[in-house]
Amino acid sequence: MYSLTKNEILLIAIISSFLLTQTILTMFLNEWLLGVTVGILFLGLVYAAIISFRENESRAAKLFLLLLLDPIIAFAFIYFDYPYKTEIIWIIVSLYWGMALLLIIPFGNKKDYKSPLPIRRIDERDVMFSRSELKEGTKRFEEYYNRRPESKLLDDEFRCRPGLLSPQASLAHPFAFASADASFDTIGALKSEVDGSVAETKTESNADDISNYIKNWAKKLGAVDCGITELYDYHMYSVGGRGERYDKVYEKKHNYAIAFTVEMDYRMMQSAPKASAIMESGQQYLEAGRIAIQIAHFIRKLGYEARAHIDGNYEVVCPLVARDAGLGEIGRMGLLMTPKLGARVRIAVVTTNLPLISDKPLNDYSVIDFCVKCKKCAEACPSQAISFTNQEDIEGVIRWQINQEACFTYWNAIGTDCGRCISVCPYSHPNNFLHNMVRAGLKNSSIFRGVALELDDLLYKRKPDSKSLPEWVNIK
Ligand code: SF4
Ligand code: SF4
Repeated sequence: MYSLTKNEILLIAIISSFLLTQTILTMFLNEWLLGVTVGILFLGLVYAAIISFRENESRAAKLFLLLLLDPIIAFAFIYFDYPYKTEIIWIIVSLYWGMALLLIIPFGNKKDYKSPLPIRRIDERDVMFSRSELKEGTKRFEEYYNRRPESKLLDDEFRCRPGLLSPQASLAHPFAFASADASFDTIGALKSEVDGSVAETKTESNADDISNYIKNWAKKLGAVDCGITELYDYHMYSVGGRGERYDKVYEKKHNYAIAFTVEMDYRMMQSAPKASAIMESGQQYLEAGRIAIQIAHFIRKLGYEARAHIDGNYEVVCPLVARDAGLGEIGRMGLLMTPKLGARVRIAVVTTNLPLISDKPLNDYSVIDFCVKCKKCAEACPSQAISFTNQEDIEGVIRWQINQEACFTYWNAIGTDCGRCISVCPYSHPNNFLHNMVRAGLKNSSIFRGVALELDDLLYKRKPDSKSLPEWVNIK
């Protein structure tokens, strides 16, 4: 028996929708329907213009105001008399609703998509922050580059740059750099709190209830989102790479991981790669770290082991844990892309042996599909560290990988942690009704994803400008 393909079903659905729309139009007053349609469009565009002005996106705001011409012209079609008025209005309304239906109907989604799982653990000694801590002339330095001779020349590149938060860096700003440094120092002061003694008496709890309690409390403490996953081997670094944890072989001690995200301020990131970006990174690493430490303390008071994984003190790879805890997908720029804020988040994790209920990964193909089309971060990246190609087989896993050496060398030249990729990403727009409508469309249909990308380029430019520093930051 002949069965219809997905595309044939879609075509039939679209044609039926057109016919249905036209039948309804014939039955009812088409002028009235056109009035309502363009009224909604008019109000929507005014709302979008106001929101864009508030978001400091004047180009987008002006374009939304310009687009108001469309409903205004459509109103003229209702107001004036001319030959074949009924038929023309009929066509206009059909076009409006036809286009809307085309964007709304789910299309091009892979329901069975599964996010790829790593097949080997990452050695933290290979991460750029660990490599930047190696001091020339030390045993550790010699040992590392004997083992990884291919990294030596690459690392010499960042070593001859001024360095992160250096007053000699090209984007140095004394107050912003001192503020960022203050945040990182405060995070350092929390280091002793990541682990600690466990209460002797266990407080029994229902796994479901305590999981919900922790997730809600994390949000109350300031997290945007919180999820739980079983802790897998590949979540753990194989070997520690920083400070006294260097060369320490990690074994999985805990069964569960709680991951949560905190928001990076949109305005501070709009100026990336300028100094406000690293101020915001420092502040949000601190916020995430503070919440993780509170949650870890709480769990230890209940009589279970818990360790907070905070900036500079990770035993786990946070984006992988967060992805498996259902907080997002990993996109082209190698960062966690969350449903409400894209990559404009910082992550922290608590691992524990408190029995919890795991969340499911999103396995959201729409993010991967959009990243395949978009490439905006790759175009905007000042160090060309982000790939333009489709996902590739990297050590047996289909994914994207950035050139971490190129990225880190650029950071050491400008003195900040850049964040330009985060700021230009179409998923990073603020969490409000306007952008959430777009995000819902992105998730729903690949046709919508194509149209939304064109619109994003038009409204915010293919390579959005880096905004000036917020006025209050920019004191002399
Ligand atoms: S900018 Fe585009 S390609 Fe890059 S991560 Fe965001 S959505 Fe993906
Ligand atoms: S942080 Fe900057 S340099 Fe690094 S990948 Fe992103 S845009 Fe490129």
